[in-house]
Amino acid sequence: MTEVPKDSGTEEKEDWTAFANAGFGETDIDLWDDLEAAPAPDSEDEPKSIDQQKKESSSTDDDWNEHYQSDQMETYLQEIPPAPSLPGLKHLLRMGTCDHCLGRIGGKKSFGQDIVSAGIEIRANILATDPELVSARDGDSYCQFCEELFAEAPLLARLMNDALADYECSRLQIGAQFPKDQAEEEDSIRKRYGAPGSAPLKSSLVENVAKELLLLNPKIKLVNEKPQILALLDMLTLAVNLDIRSHYIYGRYRKLERGIPQTRWPCRACKGRGCMRCDGTGKQYLHSVQDSVGNPLLELFGSKEHSFHGMGREDIDVRCMGRGRPFVIEMKSPKIRSVDMAVVEKAINSQAEGRIEVDSMRDSQRSEVVRIKDTPAEKSYRIRFKLHPLGTMPAPVPNHRKEGGRRGKKGRRGKRNRRGGDKDEETILATETPVEENNVKENSTTYDEASLSILKKAELVDICIERKVAKSGTKSDLIERIINSPEPQPELPPLPDENKILRILNGLAGTTLEQRTPLRVAHRRADKIRKRQVMVVEDPVVECTEEGIFTEVSLRCESGTYVKETVHGDGGRTIPSVSSLLEADCEVLWLDVADIHAD
Ligand SMILES: [Zn+2]
Ligand SMILES: [Zn+2]
Repeated sequence: MTEVPKDSGTEEKEDWTAFANAGFGETDIDLWDDLEAAPAPDSEDEPKSIDQQKKESSSTDDDWNEHYQSDQMETYLQEIPPAPSLPGLKHLLRMGTCDHCLGRIGGKKSFGQDIVSAGIEIRANILATDPELVSARDGDSYCQFCEELFAEAPLLARLMNDALADYECSRLQIGAQFPKDQAEEEDSIRKRYGAPGSAPLKSSLVENVAKELLLLNPKIKLVNEKPQILALLDMLTLAVNLDIRSHYIYGRYRKLERGIPQTRWPCRACKGRGCMRCDGTGKQYLHSVQDSVGNPLLELFGSKEHSFHGMGREDIDVRCMGRGRPFVIEMKSPKIRSVDMAVVEKAINSQAEGRIEVDSMRDSQRSEVVRIKDTPAEKSYRIRFKLHPLGTMPAPVPNHRKEGGRRGKKGRRGKRNRRGGDKDEETILATETPVEENNVKENSTTYDEASLSILKKAELVDICIERKVAKSGTKSDLIERIINSPEPQPELPPLPDENKILRILNGLAGTTLEQRTPLRVAHRRADKIRKRQVMVVEDPVVECTEEGIFTEVSLRCESGTYVKETVHGDGGRTIPSVSSLLEADCEVLWLDVADIHAD
């Protein structure tokens, strides 16, 4: 190697004068004109720039000296023709361009050739005509196009291979992040000096690292979409960051116990940090379907976290039977992806201790999450309810509040509106009170001695008549009698008989309900009226006992039907309802999803 610095003044002057021409640029078309007629050059297959190649290969250095010699350096600087023209290629060499970039932007790469061998070939050809240019790329050279990053490709590939070592991956995608100014600068000088249509730095570098990686690990399968892992080269810090995509598993679950939410529910008091209220678990409910399915899989998949996507969800107090509910569990950043599904199911079912059960599990993918969420599935329900005389039931009880278990006692209790019709906030508050505390006595007047003693005797007599007790005697006789008398029972409307109940239940089949958003979900759902159909009614059973009239029935309903509301009517918000048709209040005792008619 010669010791002459590549940018020494004399050398540049000499080189430039070899190519410079005062007229270039101003009359560039004319300049090439006299070369057009030259004999056809050797046939290189370079489709992008055949014209330029013709011109270039037919021109020798002598041509250039003869035609373009000039002292006007500044003009030359602005107007140097880009590669693959000979002066353009020579300039690339002079700039200290590395072999990779020379092959990438030199415009001479033949089909199937990699950029580095194309670059070596270009350099060899130029050096054959101009040996002095060998000094342009010595030990201290700095490629302005890639900032010597191609030299780091083997290192980056090694870093990547090491980072990937812990992860099972059959689909790897490689990407790169450059500092914005570097990318812009490269883009600008490539467009100025490189052959038109040259590959950008980023894609070429990624390709090069990929090639090196495959040398280290030939088993890796590289993809351009839907990778399991995206390995991102950070070109500023020369680091490799892995974006580990989730692994998805499809299955169906049955929820065999009530009181289990579908997804993990952080403790309201501590938001999941753990506190006295939640015994340090950080959860509002100890178990959830999500944890029961996902937690046993964490170790199997070498994952730290999971997300749960169900095809709809049942209320906490609702079981899910039959074939179970389809779901996709998403294991995040898994180290392992190929796990025997029999092992997966066994791990879940054995740890769930009968609370839930899964089957039909198989590998899935992200797109199935969307499908699961968007599939409107008809569902069959089994529901049990107790009949009460019309107007004697409290408003419906939101299940998640009633079943809380850990809920504090500070729940605000408003005055109860037992008469059903009111839909103001009081009604919502009333729903926090367990059903048992609401009964018909609530509304009747209880008298005490103090309040009675200030009444006139005539008023006391009226009360005695109302209470159906003797109205003779002194004021204090009357007061004592009133206090000791049983409170009057209001006249209750009669309950329907068994035949009427069965007739009305069977008649529900084919009925379209208008359901206004139930009060219990009104805080998170838009208030609108939905039309939903009850498709099938099956196995209605009526039990008339000393405890009252109990009814069980199976309903198959259109997706999105509020089933509890279909029975109790939600204070008139669902029309018609079993309650409105029976002219009786219906207290829902339990509800099961009997089957989900999907998949
Ligand atoms: Zn380079
Ligand atoms: Zn807590």
